[in-house]
Amino acid sequence: MEIISCKACGGDNWQSVLETKDYLHNIPGLFTIARCTDCGFMATNPRPDEKEIMAYYPEEYGPYQLNTARVEKVVAHQKKYPFLFSLVDPQIFRIGREKCANCELRVLEIGCGAGNFLYELRLRFPKWKLVGTDFSVRSIEKLQEKGIEAYVSDLKVLPHNDKSQDIVYGFMIVEHLHKLEQTLGEVKRVLKDDGKLVIAVPNIKSWQFRVFGKYAYILHIPAHLYHFDEKTLTTVMKKNGFEVESMTYHRTLQDSSFSLCNAIRESQLPESLKSILLKIFRWRTAYHFLTLPLAYIQAWTKQSPGMTAVLRKSS
Ligand SMILES: [Zn+2]
Repeated sequence: MEIISCKACGGDNWQSVLETKDYLHNIPGLFTIARCTDCGFMATNPRPDEKEIMAYYPEEYGPYQLNTARVEKVVAHQKKYPFLFSLVDPQIFRIGREKCANCELRVLEIGCGAGNFLYELRLRFPKWKLVGTDFSVRSIEKLQEKGIEAYVSDLKVLPHNDKSQDIVYGFMIVEHLHKLEQTLGEVKRVLKDDGKLVIAVPNIKSWQFRVFGKYAYILHIPAHLYHFDEKTLTTVMKKNGFEVESMTYHRTLQDSSFSLCNAIRESQLPESLKSILLKIFRWRTAYHFLTLPLAYIQAWTKQSPGMTAVLRKSS
């Protein structure tokens, strides 16, 4: 285990917020989420070091599963019902459409896992020159089998020329990076001057953290090393040479069904009732659309469990 200084202000004064464990894979270990008393930045601290953390990325980890049939189905549905999709669009693709949907843009995804997102990009923007990187060897092999350029790396060094990439995507990855500054430095180097960094991260200011506490799905302890809100994310990115152009709060309550399932599993309810409740809350499509009005209120009040930031290089 290792103790870190604050990534936002550099301070070393931490206050424990709560202790929790890995509810995603139930791997043993108890971890502390702490808040910097100087600036409010939150982190898993102490945290497993780079070798220890590997135990918390098992083969069955969700992002390591490439499901091209599911991605194809989703994209087909979205093309068929563009209005419905626009209601829940997390704005991940907006910057692509704005920059140029039909140009040969160079697009890199860091922490691409098995490449579900890259595969979706290929379906949406077939002319783009896509490349992905991740530290999971098996995941990268799966992606290469699908004919998408990808390579294994620890994200500390990106083997691309200076100012060569139009867009760098980091979908739920920044909060996983042990060498955060090093990776962001590399992203800044490889991005063109007018390039965009598009990231999505969990939002610790979400109501879900206040309601579900240690069971909140967004915590994903200990793989999530940092627990951002808009203010601390903006500060950390600025410190590393990026300005936030826009911040979009996600219009979905789906994560809350995962948090509910965590709480139900750990509860003292009878096993038969637990089983029924888990079945209900796992029916995600229905849950997604039934809770849409609430999801809009959640986004409007900046209470969403996830947020997407579009960033440019600081001048
Ligand atoms: Zn701080």
